[in-house]
Amino acid sequence: MLAVEIEKSFQGFSLKVDFNIKNEVLVIVGPSGSGKSTILNCISGIIQPDKGKISIQDEVVFDSDCHKNLPVENRKLGHVFQSYALFPHMTVEKNIMYGLKNHENTMTDQEVDCLIEKFGIKHLLQKRPQQLSGGEKQRVALARSLVIKPNLLLLDEPFAALDQETKEKLYEEFLEIKKEWNIPILLITHDEFEANYLGDKTIKLYGGSLVEKVAV
Ligand code: ADP
Ligand code: MG
Repeated sequence: MLAVEIEKSFQGFSLKVDFNIKNEVLVIVGPSGSGKSTILNCISGIIQPDKGKISIQDEVVFDSDCHKNLPVENRKLGHVFQSYALFPHMTVEKNIMYGLKNHENTMTDQEVDCLIEKFGIKHLLQKRPQQLSGGEKQRVALARSLVIKPNLLLLDEPFAALDQETKEKLYEEFLEIKKEWNIPILLITHDEFEANYLGDKTIKLYGGSLVEKVAV
């Protein structure tokens, strides 16, 4: 479960949203600059909201009234960025293992091996990100976000940069992750087909506000 009720202003922009979801996929759609990434950044703790409250699986991770603001590494969530944000100087293996350093109750070595096998990226472990295709980078970024056993997954336009064939393969993998992990997933996309095919619910954002809530 994820509950979000936040406000955040930048110069010339203000975000105010209120929504909650169970262990399901919520798709966030909206034009460029409407605040989609800002919502994910507030939830993951990269940006601090001005006001409000965020709870992940019954744990309050941010509450402005109580001055509670858990640091990013204590929020136990996976965040895959628009451009994947892999560390260019590290091998795929080091990228995947990096997240484990600051976390407790992560996957065991055996579970990590199993995940790597399942994602079909074992042969890539000693390569560096610039040697990978878009689809491979995406799989590595997803694997990196899952090894900490997240309670929540945030995916910022994860399929946008991929060709159609790769996208379709990854859609099926996404649906498997959804079934297997049974955690709330926030998915940002511009693609209507993607939203309907992958999401359980959709919210629309315009100029920092929710314009409607629709069940799909
Ligand atoms: P989207 O992901 O929907 O394209 P963003 O959430 O990235 O939109 O941005 C929403 C607005 O907030 C934009 O006007 C952007 O310039 C502004 N913004 C985002 N992050 C920051 C920041 N760290 N500092 C100042 N302004 C920001
Ligand atoms: Mg964005």
